[in-house]
Amino acid sequence: MGNAVVIIGSGLAGYAVARELRKLDSSIPITMISADHGGFYSKPMLSNALSTGKTPESILNGDAVQMAAQLKIAIRPHCRVVAINQAQNTLTLVDGEEIFYDQLVFALGADQIRLPLQGDGVAKVLTVNDLDDYQNFRDVIKDKKRISIIGAGLIGCEFANDLVTAGYQVDVIDISAQPLGRLLPSAGGVFLQQKLEAAGVIFHLDTATQSINQIDEHLHLILTNGDSIESDIVLSAVGLRPRTQLAEAAGIQINRGILVNRLLQTQCLNIYALGDCAEVEGKILPFVMPITHAARALAATLAGNPTPVVYPAMPVMVKTPACPTVVSPPDLGAIGEWQVETDEDGVKALFKDEAGNLLGFALLGVATKEKNNLTPQLPFILK
Ligand SMILES: Cc1cc2nc3c(=O)[nH]c(=O)nc-3n(C[C@H](O)[C@H](O)[C@H](O)COP(=O)(O)OP(=O)(O)OC[C@H]3O[C@@H](n4cnc5c(N)ncnc54)[C@H](O)[C@@H]3O)c2cc1C
Repeated sequence: MGNAVVIIGSGLAGYAVARELRKLDSSIPITMISADHGGFYSKPMLSNALSTGKTPESILNGDAVQMAAQLKIAIRPHCRVVAINQAQNTLTLVDGEEIFYDQLVFALGADQIRLPLQGDGVAKVLTVNDLDDYQNFRDVIKDKKRISIIGAGLIGCEFANDLVTAGYQVDVIDISAQPLGRLLPSAGGVFLQQKLEAAGVIFHLDTATQSINQIDEHLHLILTNGDSIESDIVLSAVGLRPRTQLAEAAGIQINRGILVNRLLQTQCLNIYALGDCAEVEGKILPFVMPITHAARALAATLAGNPTPVVYPAMPVMVKTPACPTVVSPPDLGAIGEWQVETDEDGVKALFKDEAGNLLGFALLGVATKEKNNLTPQLPFILK
C-alpha cells in the first residue's frame, strides 16, 4: 500500500483522523480537501454560542493556514471534490484539477434535511450546520425578535434554549408529542418541555408546519392543527442526511450512509469513511464521541496497522442549561422497558431488558449526576 493520504472534509472527523495519523507517523503525506474555509472549530458550540457571547471568530480555533502548519499537512480550502476515479486513484476538484491518492478518507458530514413546505417564505428558512451558517444566522437575527424553530430534537431544543436565553421569543414546532421524542421516554420529554417552557420557549407539539408565507417583513407559519405563528425568522432542525452522493457516483456502496466495515473501509479497499457521512455496520451515529473512537482506529489502519473500531456506550449531553440532560438511547430494536423515577428535581429513566440489564438511560435535572455510575453498566455499541 502506498502512503499519500487524502482526507475529504475539514469537520471534526477530518481533523480527528489527520491529528491521530500525524501522532502515529510524522512523515506520511496528508492532504485535506474541503469545500469550506478549512479551519478547525467545534461544531457543537454553534447551538449554545449566542447566549454565551461567542462569535464565529472566537469559535474558530485555527484557520486552514494555522492548522496546516500545526499538523504538518496540506490543506486545500474552498475546493469541492466532484468525482472520484477509483481505477486511477484520483479525485477531481470542481475546477477540473485531479489529485492522486493512495488512501482516501471520506469525512463529508451530513446535510440538514429540508422539509417540502408550501409558501413563498420557504426560501427564507435557515439551517445552522456549520460555522458559515452560524455567521449568516447571527447576521440575519440581529434586530429581530421572534424565531420559530421547526424540530424539537437535540439541535432544535439546544437552539431554543440558547435563543430564549439571548432574549428572543422562541416557538418550537414538532410532529412528536414531546421534545426529544427519539431520545427520551415521555416522562423525560414532559420534564424537559416544562423546564424549557419555564425559560420562555413556546411549544407547538403533535402538529406539523404546513406553509410559510412572507407577509410584509414577517413570516407567517400555518400549522396542520390550524394554529398560526407570526415570526421574523424560521430555523429548521429536523434531522440530518449523510452526504453519500460522491461515493455513490463513484460506485461505492451506500445505504443511509456510506457503508463501511469495522475498519471504516468501504468495499473499495483503499477508501474509508467516518463521521456523519458513514454507516458503520448499520449504525449512523452523528455525534462527537463516535468520531473520536473511529478516528483513532482509522489512523492506526492508515498507518499500516489494521484496527477495527470499538464503540463503548457514548452518552450524549444535551446542551439545554434550563434542563441538564444526558441520554444514552437503547439500540434501535432493543427489547426491554423504561423504568422511570420522576420528582420535581429530575427524571431518572433506565431502559432494562427482562434480565435487568441496563441497555440505555435518560437522565434529567439532578439525575444527571448518576451518569458516571451508570455508563460503565451499559453494553458496548460495537465491541
Ligand atoms: C448545532 C449542532 C450541535 C451539535 N451538538 C453536538 C453535541 O453537543 N454533542 C455531539 O456529540 N454532537 C453534536 N453535534 C453533532 C456533531 O457536531 C457532528 O457529529 C460532527 O461535527 C460531524 O463532523 P463531520 O466531520 O463528520 O462532519 P462536518 O462537520 O459536517 O464536516 C464535513 C466536511 O466535509 C466537507 N465536504 C462535504 N462535501 C465535500 C466535497 N464534495 N468536497 C470537499 N469537501 C466536502 C465540508 O465542507 C466539511 O468541511 C451537533 C451538531 C450540530 C449541527
